[in-house]
Amino acid sequence: MITVNEALERLFTLVTPLGSEDVPLSEAVGRVLARDVAARRDQPPFAASAMDGYALREDEARPGARFEVIGEAAAGHGFDGTVGPGQAVRIFTGAPLPDGASRVIIQEDVARSGDQIALNDDLDPKAHIRPAGCDFRTGEAMTAPRVLRPADIALLASMNCATVPVTRKPVVALISTGDELVMPGETPGPDQIIVSNTFGLKALLEGHGAKARILPIARDDIPSLETAFGLARGADLVVTIGGASVGDHDLVGQVAGQMGLDRAFYKVAMRPGKPLMAGRMGGAAMVGLPGNPVSAMVCGQVFLAPMIRAMLGLGKGRSLRLKTRLAAPLPQNGPREHYMRARLTPEGLVAENRQDSSLLSVLAEADALLVRPMHDPARAIGDEVEYLDF
Ligand code: AMP
Ligand code: MG
Repeated sequence: MITVNEALERLFTLVTPLGSEDVPLSEAVGRVLARDVAARRDQPPFAASAMDGYALREDEARPGARFEVIGEAAAGHGFDGTVGPGQAVRIFTGAPLPDGASRVIIQEDVARSGDQIALNDDLDPKAHIRPAGCDFRTGEAMTAPRVLRPADIALLASMNCATVPVTRKPVVALISTGDELVMPGETPGPDQIIVSNTFGLKALLEGHGAKARILPIARDDIPSLETAFGLARGADLVVTIGGASVGDHDLVGQVAGQMGLDRAFYKVAMRPGKPLMAGRMGGAAMVGLPGNPVSAMVCGQVFLAPMIRAMLGLGKGRSLRLKTRLAAPLPQNGPREHYMRARLTPEGLVAENRQDSSLLSVLAEADALLVRPMHDPARAIGDEVEYLDF
């Protein structure tokens, strides 16, 4: 058996960062910036007022001073002239600061009568001016790679970037295998169950930036598996679910091998999970996951999500692990890394009582996968543990 980290290292050798495409800014959130993007202008492009008030000369801004209002500057409509001694311009937030002015007195600090203003005794000392380029300058870059968040989208818009170079979404083909499976919405026969893994994995992978295609269910026979692999052509990653251990009906490895998979088969020292098939097949990476629903989802989080991130150019790192304290004790762990379904409570993490890898209801109740290292000793309340957000 190999460790989870060793398995992940081998899976990383199967994938490389994908190419890029340009998308409209409005569709770029959640995508990965593929190369640095430079600002096309200064922001603000001119010194601008940060408040509604009066623009005048800093050296004249004294309590009680009087000024003649000679014009107005509003956002989008600057004042053409120059502010001279004893003069002020009515100004609004976002308007260009007129020539000659070096301070904005907020309107609350001013008494106005006709074209005359007088400054109050107690003046707000700030200048209320946003200097040109104080947000960013032409040529300053947003650096790649990064997952674009709403704040990044706003910044790119402000930089005048209408389209954004992003890494192409990895296309994942998902193949469920098994004579017992039917699609949600169908009427199952007496010996059948509803397929769940492809749907759960599609949701998981798309949350990590992939585009997942659910292929028709492959039956436990060679022609059906051949058809499914044929339909998977063009994908960057082909994922099969089930049929990958050593049962009589586990034909996935055999058929994939006939279709060109240079196969590696790993027994990974983890719970749930364990058998994992992987290799390159045509132009794609191929991973065969165990069929038990919780195993498939945990392997999706532990192995497939990092592969997607690597294909997106985000580097080869394992899924983010967080730390917290235990709110209930745990017995000693065995020889395999255990990803326990657990709940985050205000007091800390509590492992669910039932850890069987067929129980999707328990997985859905869980907020976290508590990671128990191999041979971890018994743990007490208050001990620090690692977990994956799930
Ligand atoms: P297998 O790995 O094919 O032996 O499957 C292990 C267990 O997982 C069996 O109980 C299967 O019925 C179940 N299983 C396999 N694939 C799926 C799937 N896509 N959705 C739900 N359950 C599955
Ligand atoms: Mg099966």
